[in-house]
Amino acid sequence: MRKKIVAGNWKMNKTRSEAKKLLAEIDSYIQSHPPKCEVLVGIPFVYLENAKANHKNFGIYSEDISEHKSGAYTGEISAEMLTSIEADGAIIGHSERRQYHHETDEQIGAKVKIALDNGLNPIFCNGEVLEERKAGKHFDVVKKQTETALFGLTADEIKKVVIAYEPVWAIGTGETATPEQAQEIHAFIRSLIAEKYGKDLADSLSILYGGSVKPSNAKEIFSKPDVDGGLIGGAALNIADFSALIDAYAEI
Ligand code: PEP
Repeated sequence: MRKKIVAGNWKMNKTRSEAKKLLAEIDSYIQSHPPKCEVLVGIPFVYLENAKANHKNFGIYSEDISEHKSGAYTGEISAEMLTSIEADGAIIGHSERRQYHHETDEQIGAKVKIALDNGLNPIFCNGEVLEERKAGKHFDVVKKQTETALFGLTADEIKKVVIAYEPVWAIGTGETATPEQAQEIHAFIRSLIAEKYGKDLADSLSILYGGSVKPSNAKEIFSKPDVDGGLIGGAALNIADFSALIDAYAEI
């Protein structure tokens, strides 16, 4: 059985006291309702060290990582730094990083590799924009993103990667891919991995769906055979919604 995961992505939200409160709420919810899935949150860099020191019941991830080891890269945060504060992993290649910071598939691949080299678990994001979906190019886009960023990895390395398919047109828009659309492309991504690394490895890889997942649609999406959970933005920002998403797995 591959890992089922409910992952939050806070993006650039929450002050220190708000972050502390939500982390404590997640922790106490998990303790009183042991989840049937792995739970993790990607949070702003400035809160990582305290979060990790105070919360051991769920994963604490950064929302990005530098592709460089160290040196003159003002404002960047390295994999070594994240390991030194015991962060569990990093969200890498989110569409907002691709869109606003012009990250390329090659850079994203380098970030995944340096995360792995430093013992961090990478969540690699891919997904097409609306024009690409409308033009029927989504399979090609996701194939190129995945192959360029991941296919230089060895089998032992790629085993540790979690993929998050996030159609850009569904992120923060309220518009969600249908469960059938999610299943179709998740199965496609798994088939790409199978062609390159073999079926057993592909079957063991968790592929999350992201894009306006909320309590009302989570169960239906998470029930699809190639969907192994979600990467959640808006609905990860309050305990009522986030706990309901964790609970979706209790019902599947
Ligand atoms: C995300 O940020 O990865 C995301 C999927 O956001 P939302 O759930 O708000 O669409």
